[in-house]
Amino acid sequence: MTKLKKQFKAESKKLLDMMINSIYTNKEIFLRELISNASDAIDKLYYRSLTDKKVSVNKDELEIRVSIDKENRTLTISDNGIGMTEEELEENLGTIAKSGSELFKQNNDKEKDISIIGQFGVGFYSSFMVSDKVEVTSKSIDSEKSYKWVSTGVSGYTIEEAEKKNNGTEIVLYLKKSTDENNYEEFLEEYNIEMLIRKYSDYIHYPIKMLIEKTEKKDDKEEKVSEDKTLNSMIPIWKKNTNEVKEEEYNDFYTDKFYDYEKPIKVIRSNVEGRCSYTSLLFIPSHAPFDYYSKEYEKGLQLYSKGVLIMDKCSELLPDYFSFVKGLVDSEDISLNVSRETLQENYQIELIEKSLETKIKKELENMLKENREDYEKFFKDFGMQLKYGVYSSYGNKKDVLGDLLLFTSSKDKKYTTLKEYVERMKENQSTIYYACGESIDKIDLLPQVESVKEKDYEILYLTDYMDEFVFKTMMEYDGKNFMNVSDEKMDLDSEEEKEELKKNNEKNSKLFDEMKSYLKENVSSVRFTHKLKNHPVCLTSKGEVSTEMEKVLNSMPNNMNNVKAETILEINENHPISKKLEELYKEKNKEELEKYTKILYQEARLIEGLPIENPTELTNLVCELISK
Ligand code: ADP
Repeated sequence: MTKLKKQFKAESKKLLDMMINSIYTNKEIFLRELISNASDAIDKLYYRSLTDKKVSVNKDELEIRVSIDKENRTLTISDNGIGMTEEELEENLGTIAKSGSELFKQNNDKEKDISIIGQFGVGFYSSFMVSDKVEVTSKSIDSEKSYKWVSTGVSGYTIEEAEKKNNGTEIVLYLKKSTDENNYEEFLEEYNIEMLIRKYSDYIHYPIKMLIEKTEKKDDKEEKVSEDKTLNSMIPIWKKNTNEVKEEEYNDFYTDKFYDYEKPIKVIRSNVEGRCSYTSLLFIPSHAPFDYYSKEYEKGLQLYSKGVLIMDKCSELLPDYFSFVKGLVDSEDISLNVSRETLQENYQIELIEKSLETKIKKELENMLKENREDYEKFFKDFGMQLKYGVYSSYGNKKDVLGDLLLFTSSKDKKYTTLKEYVERMKENQSTIYYACGESIDKIDLLPQVESVKEKDYEILYLTDYMDEFVFKTMMEYDGKNFMNVSDEKMDLDSEEEKEELKKNNEKNSKLFDEMKSYLKENVSSVRFTHKLKNHPVCLTSKGEVSTEMEKVLNSMPNNMNNVKAETILEINENHPISKKLEELYKEKNKEELEKYTKILYQEARLIEGLPIENPTELTNLVCELISK
């Protein structure tokens, strides 16, 4: 076979170049990355043996090895895992991991690059931070032949046939020459390697062995003997006593295992004994992954049975509304042979899911109580998922989720919970008031909002398209109904004021009928109101669909047949315009009345942020009136 030099893919080249010239001081993490890959490769082999009868493994022989050759200045890391075929070598080492490349594509900031290397890892290529040349020899369990991949950096790589007998991968690093700033010699010292493995890879559940030379005295003669030493304790981090694990270790474990470059906002550990006993280690990320709100995002926890990984993303362990949670569950009560197909009916999995749901909810509540700042940060990124949980469960989950929701309040333009809102409610107030719109500023400009605020009632600003649907599905909170300030039923008048308005509306009913006839099906009625302090006009909605919901529903791809909110055109009784309308009607000036009505209606739509059906007609009418 000829050795053909091949080129790296563009993104890989960029990353590789960065690694080679890295000014990142924590270069030692390359070892953690290679050992983590080796461990994954053994996991994959083990995993295969569970479902593929042709593959058998002897559990006791699975191992990772590290060896040092001081003379040749090489460090070798090998495993007896699943190995790579020729194509896989090409595919996996010629292109960087997808998650990594996404991160780098989005980023053009050198400082941030460094923080990504440090926290996210970036895998195999980190070996180029310490080496001039890297050789990967691998034999896949699916191939008779073995292959060697060699690269000295950005110029490319070669792949040729090799002579490796057993399955697995061996990576030889030719260490760079030491400079004033960087000492690569330290990676040739057994003691240092041992320390690094303790530090970063202690929890790896396969033994990481190194051949250690010792001098022994035998019959008064000194003799050199070598023996294997296992460098890691192999106790998974989640099985260690809580007081033995530092927060930093959990954070490192998280960033390493779950491909994040930021530490989690919360670590949740639990140990449950009962009908189904399990240990879990869960993490709440501090930010939403880039694909979180897309179809590509897959929820799920790793599932282990007695320390052995049996499923990477077990989605049945998490309800959808907590899909942002990462982590793992380890249970002795789950059989090694559990498969995706049998999971759904698995009674233990169901028990674990219920218990995790309660636990996560409790931890989020604690965070809300004890660390408001963190919780608000969390909510900014994942709140939408919680709201979606209330909505998509038709309100069944409102007891679980209702108290976890935050809304911005008119009190201080800060987040509030519904509980806090209710606690602050005025004595005579029985309803939770809210207003919808694109932004807080826009909502504040709504005429209906002003008068409610003036009467000193607190309003929740609903600025997420999902928000009003959430209130509609919740129906009530703590016995209090929700009321959109744009609802026609909204009424803060005193009994006398109500009575007075009613009389005046009755008196003018013919005028309103006339006006309605010009607007046809666009409104269900026209009337005077007191809810507008200084503003002339507004649209209120009647029934289930508000004008805000109309906007949302009509912007959906599966548009539900042009939904229309049933609206009422309300005119401020205390505004001069009401007198003008009465006059025009009295004078039987129907032509003018029609023009005024149309302008008022379109104005009300504008205020609500609804599209204007005929802008030309509106502008012509306004021009005509102002030219008079
Ligand atoms: P990541 O581990 O994040 O996927 P890497 O760049 O470290 O990214 O590795 C790329 C891929 O190469 C891995 O996903 C894996 O498929 C393969 N690989 C790396 N090291 C090994 C190994 N020791 N044995 C088998 N496959 C490996």
